[in-house]
Amino acid sequence: MMKTTDVPALFAALLALLVSGAAPLPGGDDTAPDPVRSDSAAPPADHHMHVWSADARDALVRLMAAGREGEPPQIPTFDGEQVMAELDSAGIERGVLLSTAYFFGSPDVDFEDERRRVRRENDRVARQVAEHPDRLVAFFGVNPLADYAADEAERCASTAECVGMKLQLANSDVDLREPAHVEQLREFFRRAGELDLAIVIHLQTRREDFGRRDVEAFVDHVLPAAPDIPVQVAHMGGDSRFDSATVRSFDALADAMEEHPERMDDVFFDMGLVPFPEQRARGDTARQRIYRRWNRRFAEAVRRVGPDRVVFGTDYPEARPGQYARRLRQSLPLTAAEIRDLFDDRAPYLE
Ligand SMILES: [Zn+2]
Repeated sequence: MMKTTDVPALFAALLALLVSGAAPLPGGDDTAPDPVRSDSAAPPADHHMHVWSADARDALVRLMAAGREGEPPQIPTFDGEQVMAELDSAGIERGVLLSTAYFFGSPDVDFEDERRRVRRENDRVARQVAEHPDRLVAFFGVNPLADYAADEAERCASTAECVGMKLQLANSDVDLREPAHVEQLREFFRRAGELDLAIVIHLQTRREDFGRRDVEAFVDHVLPAAPDIPVQVAHMGGDSRFDSATVRSFDALADAMEEHPERMDDVFFDMGLVPFPEQRARGDTARQRIYRRWNRRFAEAVRRVGPDRVVFGTDYPEARPGQYARRLRQSLPLTAAEIRDLFDDRAPYLE
């Protein structure tokens, strides 16, 4: 069964947080200082951050409103200066800005002038990065099924600030059980490989039973088309949060790493918003228990593939990098040495 609309997890979560008044957004009320622990070396990079223009924000609001009733949510825009302020206050050197231009390619809303707006949003992200080329890199966003997808990859390859492409399969309604979609995705990966671009992929689709079967289609038919480029699987293979779909997806990917090491050599995970700091439960013991359970699953996952296969990321503006790192140090059931190993990696596209 397919969900009728599937706003990316980030935004569903954002909505929930905005509604609950617990928004983690800069300027929100989630800013209470935490005690800093002395073993707290900052991660070298936040590998999963977003900025968006007013146009992309409006697109997001329309996507969130599709199929829902009530007042549209109030969402601010975000730019590179805000990202830099967050990184500086966290002591984090590098930031990876993932364009959400694929909003405009979502089949849920018929966006006028889609292609031009995709280009404009991607160019805006590149301009933010161009202000801080030693600290930031850009990924262009695109729906890989769009007829202009390969053109966006080519534009990325010819843009100094752009190191790769961000794909969001649920937002783009790519179905890994649909042979035609798999073929188009494979062709997109092949082209990205030729252009030497990295890929960040939100792999979870709209299938409610998303899991092994979908991951195997990706591993067997898509990945071999681009054997030499870094592939960052966002949110540990899921949709953010360690729910049952994330577990199915992660387990299938981890199995593939054992069974097809040559295919999985350049594949790694970002932890963007998967572990959830207990402080966010705000004393609600039922929520705290849920977060603890997710975090135990997350710790198991890290131990299974090894901390070098997982890079730090926040899904900013969903979480603020300094605060998120600090709170995870206090919440995760990992040793200080394990957390150091987990946090200290840098994706190959940042070398
Ligand atoms: Zn994201």
